[in-house]
Amino acid sequence: MKRLTKLLSTALCALGLCWGAAAQSVTALVGGNIVHVANGEIASDAVLLVEDDRILAMGSRASLAIPEDATRIDMTGRWLIPGLMNMHVHPGLILPGKLAAELARETDAALSLRMAHAVRGMLHAGVTTIRIPGDRRHADLALARSIERGESEGPRIYSSGMPLVITGGHGSEAGVLYADGPDELVKAARQQISLGASWVKILISGGIATQGGGIGEALMTPEEINAVVDAAHRFGAKVAAHSGSPAATSVAVDAGIDSIEHGYTLDRETLRKMKRAGTWLVPTIVVSQPATEEFFERIGSPPWYLQRRASVGKLHWEALRMAIDEGVSIALGTDGLPQEPAQGTNWMVREAEYYVEAGMTPLEALQSATLKTAEMLEASADSGTLEPGKYADIVALKANPLDDIGALRGIDFVMKGGVVYRDDSFRAPR
Ligand SMILES: [Zn+2]
Repeated sequence: MKRLTKLLSTALCALGLCWGAAAQSVTALVGGNIVHVANGEIASDAVLLVEDDRILAMGSRASLAIPEDATRIDMTGRWLIPGLMNMHVHPGLILPGKLAAELARETDAALSLRMAHAVRGMLHAGVTTIRIPGDRRHADLALARSIERGESEGPRIYSSGMPLVITGGHGSEAGVLYADGPDELVKAARQQISLGASWVKILISGGIATQGGGIGEALMTPEEINAVVDAAHRFGAKVAAHSGSPAATSVAVDAGIDSIEHGYTLDRETLRKMKRAGTWLVPTIVVSQPATEEFFERIGSPPWYLQRRASVGKLHWEALRMAIDEGVSIALGTDGLPQEPAQGTNWMVREAEYYVEAGMTPLEALQSATLKTAEMLEASADSGTLEPGKYADIVALKANPLDDIGALRGIDFVMKGGVVYRDDSFRAPR
């Protein structure tokens, strides 16, 4: 019923007949250029009306009446895009090096506060939805609920609880949840789901951040991968696999995995299989490329880490180029914090810029962080494009991102669920 009322008021509003309930608590973004990420069209000198947490109506300034008591925000000279979505971030991430030493005895309370600070920074960087593919001690799930309740500031969170680590595999360290063999993995997956995880994260090959186990080696057995994917799907949860190995990826795709993370090495045969199966790739390309070198030096990464990172840089880049060329569905993710500085911007923006350098059009790169990510999360009814009825998750830029994806460097306004979290051009009325 509420939805019907909303649809009706939206339709009336579009005819210039906004009144009553529809006109209350309305915010009008006036005069901006709305970027339609589905088809690349731009509506200039537009009005976008927000009511509560949703987009109420959109149209040209000439055709769409603005309710008299609406709060107006001037968007002249700005481009409006959907809030950015980052599908691979760990707010509680601790990488080997100085940081790991400093945080060796971090309590649960300190971890939660550090993560709350990290996700607030993401939101201010324009990221209104994240997926956390594994984090520490279930603080991610607590944080997601806290944000939902409106107690903490941060993006909408889809999370997988703790990653399922096989003994000796990627992610091995004190305090992790080890699960070996189909039975233990199934049990561990169900535990995460029962605590509120909508995804399950498995680590099927070696990785950069853990010594031992080659990055390109298929460490998890096909029986283990099959069992955990089957168990998660029975509960309606999706499965993401950390993979740097074509062989492991191939097995996971056959098992029905939902997303492949990183894909440090991939061949065309595996990529074609992913395309046929509709498997998502979340590249996190920035993590192995020159843009983040300054970061790893700053955090005092040990030599073995830098060596492992350097060993996959070129292969990772080639895998991304091939994936784009083969038309594999790509959802943007950064692994590191999106707001972390890199080459005059941040990891999130650099990730999108790398996609264009590797062969995407600016529109495709923008889709990988909006429309496509929403598709991967099955959240297209609520997110991913600017359309009436969807969440008012909106970011404004000073230039047209379809001309140059580098326009994302100029984010100066962030709204999530109708609430403005950042407006650099805001001037208090005199
Ligand atoms: Zn990761």
